[in-house]
Amino acid sequence: MPPITPVSTSVEADGSPAPSVSPDAHRVVVSGAELGRPAFRGARSDAHWMALALERAREAGDRGEVPVGAVVVREGVLVAAGSNCPIGTSDPSGHAEIVALRAAGRALGNYRLTDCNIFVTLEPCAMCAGALLQARFSRVVFGARDPKTGAAGSVIDLFAEPRLNHHAVCIGGVLAEESAALLREFFAARRRPKGVA
Ligand SMILES: [Zn+2]
Repeated sequence: MPPITPVSTSVEADGSPAPSVSPDAHRVVVSGAELGRPAFRGARSDAHWMALALERAREAGDRGEVPVGAVVVREGVLVAAGSNCPIGTSDPSGHAEIVALRAAGRALGNYRLTDCNIFVTLEPCAMCAGALLQARFSRVVFGARDPKTGAAGSVIDLFAEPRLNHHAVCIGGVLAEESAALLREFFAARRRPKGVA
């Protein structure tokens, strides 16, 4: 996979056309290309954080929830994590991003998460995209696309909507295949007749 370049709107991590670099992109650049440079010594790659989000997604799947996970990172430090839980909590807003941003807000004592990045295994829906914009995340990184409800380019792109006041750098496609495979396996298992391994 080529190094991930922060971009101004939601495009695939390996995407073209050549993205423009957001003014916010300098804040936390943790792509593989930066590793080893003194200014970013110790920085983790997007794939590293997405792998942690995938762990949370698997944990949600183990509970019978659609396997989606998210982690919030600030200045290279894990702040909070969340996993999908609408069924278990009887809460339609219990998406991984919402759980993670609420936990991050509590952890940091701030309703604005301006210096934070969020890594989520599935493209945010409109509800979550709105919440992420409200939280002022500087960067939103997601894994698989969601062609049915994705609000970062698949159905609509709230991150690229100039009429909205707040903007976040948004990129997709980080560990996308792993995230999509987890979802495919989850739904395939649910469709499988009982008793069939
Ligand atoms: Zn959502």
